[in-house]
Amino acid sequence: MSFESLNFHPNLLNALVELGYSSPTDVQKQAIPLALKGEDVMAGAQTGTGKTAAFSLPLLQRLLTLPAQSEQSAESSTDSKASGHPIRALILTPTRELAQQVFDSMSAYAKHTDLKVAVAYGGTSMNVQVKAINAGADILVATPGRLLDHVFNRSVSLTEVETFVLDEADRMLDMGFIVDIQRIMERMPDERQTLFFSATFSKQVKKLAFDILTEPKMVEV
Ligand code: AMP
Repeated sequence: MSFESLNFHPNLLNALVELGYSSPTDVQKQAIPLALKGEDVMAGAQTGTGKTAAFSLPLLQRLLTLPAQSEQSAESSTDSKASGHPIRALILTPTRELAQQVFDSMSAYAKHTDLKVAVAYGGTSMNVQVKAINAGADILVATPGRLLDHVFNRSVSLTEVETFVLDEADRMLDMGFIVDIQRIMERMPDERQTLFFSATFSKQVKKLAFDILTEPKMVEV
């Protein structure tokens, strides 16, 4: 299987060529076709397997080819002005370092597209992040606490999220983010695509997956 055979947009393929990616990794081979179809995916994958591209590439491809929810409903775009900038995709990570890494990768994959990526994590200025979000971010990579700060400050609205990615779900739970995740879930539409990545699957991780995924397809590498 090649990246070309997955029918990616030429602007995404160009970025992959520049990065020197010649063929998909195992987790990419399994997860990308399912995610491109709009399926929910529950993937067991460690860092280093290429999991970031496994969720980023189909997410970008779908944003490039599907119309934004806000374009489909004039009413919702008026509402969203009152409650923050509506993003189309949300990637939650447990740590600041991982948020920055995912942001860097996502930005590299999206380099030749018009899609805008922003990042939000604690320990740095809210204002700088708000500016990047208001500049028209389509995709936001964030840690849970800082994301909620932005939601409560009405700088971000989650009501039009089309794709939600939970990265390193096991670490999220270990770090005590379950309540934050639940608060975030409440603000997203039920009708969305969810991609769930975890290195391990304890009872708690499976319960969280069961709560937030709809008829997920399993991927194990
Ligand atoms: P990750 O598991 O997402 O942290 O990715 C691990 C490393 O593999 C990163 O440095 C990626 O840039 C790289 N990578 C991801 N997918 C591919 C690929 N298909 N070909 C070559 N390198 C890749």
